[in-house]
Amino acid sequence: MGTCSENRRNVPELFGTAVFNDDVMQERLPKDVYQSLRKTIDEGKDLDLTVANAVATAMKDWAVEKGVTHFTHWFQPLNGITAEKHDSFISPTSDGRVIMQFSGKELIKGEPDASSFPSGGLRATFEARGYTAWDPTSYAFVKGDSLYIPTAFCSYSGEVLDKKTPLLRSMEDLNHQALRILRVFGDRETKRVITTVGAEQEYFLIDRKLYEQRKDLIFCGRTLFGAKAPKGQEMEDHYFGAIKPRVAAFMKELDEELWKLGILAKTKHNEAAPAQHELAPIFTTTNTATDHNQLTMETMKNVAARHGLVCLLHEKPFAGVNGSGKHNNWSLTTDTGKNLLDPGKSPSENFQFLLFLAAVVKAVDEYQDLLRISVASAGNDHRLGGGEAPPDIISVFLGDELTGILEAIEKGTVYDRIEHQKLMTGVHVLPDLPKDTTDRNRTSPFAFTGNKFEFRMLGSAISIACPNIMLNTTVAEELRQFADSLEEAKDLPAAVLELIRGVMREHKRIIFNGDGYSEEWIKEAQRRGLLNLPTTVDALPRYLDQKNISLFTSHHIYTEAEMEARYETILEEYSKTLHIEALTMIEMARRDIIPAVSHYLLKLTESVLSRQKLSSRFPCKAENALIEKLSTLLDTVYERQEALETALKDPIIHSVNILTVSTYYKDKVIPAMEALRAAVDEMETLVASKDWPYPTYADLMFRI
Ligand code: ADP
Ligand code: MG
Repeated sequence: MGTCSENRRNVPELFGTAVFNDDVMQERLPKDVYQSLRKTIDEGKDLDLTVANAVATAMKDWAVEKGVTHFTHWFQPLNGITAEKHDSFISPTSDGRVIMQFSGKELIKGEPDASSFPSGGLRATFEARGYTAWDPTSYAFVKGDSLYIPTAFCSYSGEVLDKKTPLLRSMEDLNHQALRILRVFGDRETKRVITTVGAEQEYFLIDRKLYEQRKDLIFCGRTLFGAKAPKGQEMEDHYFGAIKPRVAAFMKELDEELWKLGILAKTKHNEAAPAQHELAPIFTTTNTATDHNQLTMETMKNVAARHGLVCLLHEKPFAGVNGSGKHNNWSLTTDTGKNLLDPGKSPSENFQFLLFLAAVVKAVDEYQDLLRISVASAGNDHRLGGGEAPPDIISVFLGDELTGILEAIEKGTVYDRIEHQKLMTGVHVLPDLPKDTTDRNRTSPFAFTGNKFEFRMLGSAISIACPNIMLNTTVAEELRQFADSLEEAKDLPAAVLELIRGVMREHKRIIFNGDGYSEEWIKEAQRRGLLNLPTTVDALPRYLDQKNISLFTSHHIYTEAEMEARYETILEEYSKTLHIEALTMIEMARRDIIPAVSHYLLKLTESVLSRQKLSSRFPCKAENALIEKLSTLLDTVYERQEALETALKDPIIHSVNILTVSTYYKDKVIPAMEALRAAVDEMETLVASKDWPYPTYADLMFRI
């Protein structure tokens, strides 16, 4: 009892202790400095150097009291992970000693060498030097011996080299367009519309000693070989099951570490696959949610290491059981605390709600390609469409109630509520919109869940920045069109209904409330003309379609050159990932698997020979059968790893056209990898456990 209540008391005390948050700022900054900083944070006002100096000193003093010696600008280059370069606070004095110093200049701007970060096509045109610029809207924090300052990352010639800058731009853009809509509805109060995100994170935990015995896990984060264990997830006994003590200890420490960083870790549970788990935070501003998700992933890995575990964030660590994803719960909130995707009660709010809803439906239909692209990676290709995650086809789940209301508006008829309680929809009256009463649909890639949308196609390892840039920008575009027309409207309710009718007429096809995992849906989606883009390579070329370039350039999110850079970077990463995986397979096959099986065959042969020497009455059927099967398979494995190596030597992989290269990896290298794997996995089931060179699936997933 005692420890329990003590823990409860401690959490609020623990929460945010590593963060230079609003409380700390209020306490430590002179009033006028605090107020200017607040203006910068809330309204994007420029910050002058005297204010920056005062903030820097306060930050440094606060951090040094916590034993911190260094600071780092912390940024999010295009490779989807975070980067940091640490400088100490020391500054020499004339008498040969040092003092701890941190200036406003150092806070605002950093100059890491940009040349080694992925930059796609921009590499040729920008200077190697890049700079990082403080993002005051995301709090600085302390981790280890350093003060971390969240920053944006640009080249000197102004090209954006990170994920944060476009994310901030897209949030600003959406704010602007959403405010226009609110003004049309007579809202003069709201000063700001913010997008909010809660990112549910899935992951696997495995034993570190076993991990260290597998090159595929070490180099690629996923198993490239591995026969199915006798037991997978078919008993459904892991999902929400009791958490094992070792995992529970990990989760407890993870929560505490995240709370210190001001991350609202809320829910933890076991997921569908053995050894798979999930963590969900409480939602927050998108920018912060993005930073926090990056920190969450990193903290998971660090804490796991302290427990003799490894946290696998790959989308598909094991074949045959579920992979890991990330659910991006997304909504729009006003600075006065109103959720714009909450159906609300009064008719006027309903109009406004339905309009925002229609904007999302239209955005998702018109930019299916962008949403698919925003989750594209070699890792996620293993999950999407595999019957464990949403299909590659984008659709929106609204539930029967909302779909019914929208359809009634489309037809200009009376909405017949499910309970046959007639309610008028028309210019004058709209029904109270209850919270979605239909069953939760788990198979939709993009589901309305009562007062937010849940985008479920994200892979577990990717940064959530890109999906949110797409969501924010595409919805901003639809709201812009709506605002343009409504600002001119004489009869607002009629004009709103007309817009909704138009959306339904042209974009209804994107609404699908059925089973997204079913075969019928694939056919039905094709009939509806929805895109089906099974792989990263199928999806990416559409990124540079004129409509998408127009979208991003007109909203000032990306320049065309920046888009090309992103396109290049994603495809390059795809090809590199596959190249490393293929090399790892060859290495494992040649140096571990073939020798092990050959050695096992030798043992079998010796056994046969010595027994037959004893007496010719022993037919040695078992050994002889195994020798035959394994010898054949061993030759097959040898041939297939040679074939894979030959595939990797094709000059096409040095082509300057990155699409040609990645298409080659998809069409030639992946099948060669799959063929090699099939033969090796079959051998695994025939070789003595102690002669197999690697821990098996059973060891990895069931021995925690
Ligand atoms: P579940 O999907 O497991 O039923 P919830 O629906 O309660 O759980 O929430 C899932 C995630 O959605 C949580 O991270 C939660 O914080 C987030 N969420 C809830 N409301 C919003 C919102 N308005 N905007 C963004 N995310 C939200
Ligand atoms: Mg969810």
